[in-house]
Amino acid sequence: MMAGGGACWQCGETGGHEATAHVRQEEARLSSEVKCPGQSRSQDMCRICRSRNLHVYLDMGRTPLANSYLRADELGKEEFKEELAIQVCLDCGLSQLTKVVNPDLMFKHYLYVSSTTETFQSHCAELAKTAVAAARCQRGEWVLDIASNDGCLLSKFRDIGMKVVGVDPAVNLAAEANQAGIPTLCDYWSTSSAEVVVSRFGRPKVITATNVFAHADDLHEFLRGVDRCMARHGIFVIECPYVIDFIEKNEFDTAYHEHLSYIGIRPLQTLMAQHGMSLFDVEYFKDLHGGTIRVFVARRGDYPAHSNVQAFLKKEEEFGIADAKRYREFGERVRANKEALVGLVRQLDADGKTIWAYGASAKGNTLMNYFNIPTGLIPVAVDDNPKKWGWYTPGSHMRIANIDELAQGKVDYLLLLAWNFESEIRRRCRAIHYAGRYIVPVPEARVIE
Ligand SMILES: [Zn+2]
Repeated sequence: MMAGGGACWQCGETGGHEATAHVRQEEARLSSEVKCPGQSRSQDMCRICRSRNLHVYLDMGRTPLANSYLRADELGKEEFKEELAIQVCLDCGLSQLTKVVNPDLMFKHYLYVSSTTETFQSHCAELAKTAVAAARCQRGEWVLDIASNDGCLLSKFRDIGMKVVGVDPAVNLAAEANQAGIPTLCDYWSTSSAEVVVSRFGRPKVITATNVFAHADDLHEFLRGVDRCMARHGIFVIECPYVIDFIEKNEFDTAYHEHLSYIGIRPLQTLMAQHGMSLFDVEYFKDLHGGTIRVFVARRGDYPAHSNVQAFLKKEEEFGIADAKRYREFGERVRANKEALVGLVRQLDADGKTIWAYGASAKGNTLMNYFNIPTGLIPVAVDDNPKKWGWYTPGSHMRIANIDELAQGKVDYLLLLAWNFESEIRRRCRAIHYAGRYIVPVPEARVIE
C-alpha cells in the first residue's frame, strides 16, 4: 500500500477517515484515565547478556519521572517517584538502571520535540545523507525511523528522495507528524509493528533509531523487529549517548528513568552477535548530547567492517568498560560535584542573588532532584520549547518561561541545565541583552561571565 494513497496509517483502511481520528480516540482514553501510581520492576539481570554479575555505582535516590511536567493545579499533589540508580554488568560492560518504570507512564505524551534546536536539525540532515550513501540507496526506497518523534529526521530523508515511515508511541507527536505528511504509526517498536510496516509500506533499506535504543527495555525484541522488516542488504543505524563520555565527563544528569541503558560498542557487539548481525562502522560526535556514537549494523557478512569498530573496542578495553573500579571513581566525582554546586547556589542565595535556570530538560530535572535543591531557590526555568511554557518542572517545581521574561527580570545568575547547548544558549541570551553570569553545573560547578 502506498503512502498518500488515501489509506489510514493506523489501521490500513481506505474508508475516508484519517489516522488522526485514532490519535484523538487514544488522547480521549488517556485523559479519562486517572494517572495511575505507576508500576515498575527491578532489573536484576543484564539486559543484553543475562548475567547477574551487576555492580551498582550511582544511587540518586527516588526521583520523579524527568518528563512528567506539572500544571499549576497539580503542584500540591503527590508525584510518582522511583529509585534512580545505575549498575554495570561486569561481564559485557552494559550500564543499566536498577529499576524499569512502565513505559506508558513516560512515553504516551511527550513534550520534548526534537525539531526545536538548529543544531539537531542540521545533524538530522547529515545523518540522512550519510545513511543513504552507506546503504547505496536508490531514490524511492523506504526508510523507517523508530521513535520518529515529530518526524524531523524523516523529513530530511524525504528531502533527498526517499519514501519514509515512522513509528512512535507518543500520541501527540505521531499526530503532528501525520499532519505534516510523515506517515507515522502510533505504537511502540516490536515484531508486530515491524510486520505492520512491511504490510502497509514495504521493507526499509535503512532503519534508524536515534536516541531510543537506550530507552528500550527488551533489546532482543527490538532487534527481532529490525530483522523481521529490514530489506535485503539493508542497514540499521543507531545513535545513542556514549557511555565512555557519560563516565569520563560526569554526565550523571543524562540519567533518568526513560534512559535504561548506557551504551558502549562492546555490549552492542555482544547483543548483535546474538541476532546474526554485526557492527560495520562507528562514528563519534563529541558535542552531540555530551558525546554520541552512531553505529552502523547489518546482517553478518553483508558489509565489510571498518577498522573503526576494532579501534573503539580497543579503547573500551583500555578504559575498563567492565571494571568496577572505573565506576566507583565516577560515583565519587559525582558526589563531589553535588556538594560543590549545592554549596555555590546556597551561598549565592544567602548573598541575595536571583538565580534562574536555562533548559527545563530531562537532564535538568535529574540534577535538580538528585541534588535536592530546595523548591523556590531557583523559581524559574527558561526554555525554548513553547509547549513547555506555563508548566512546572517535576519535583523542583520551577515555572517554565519564555526567554522574553529573562530580558525583563533582574536575574544575576543563570544555571545552564541544558549545558550541552551552552554556546547556542549564550548566543540567545546575548541577543536579549542578558547581563548576568552563568553557572555551568557539569562536570564541575563553575561560574562564567
Ligand atoms: Zn551483560
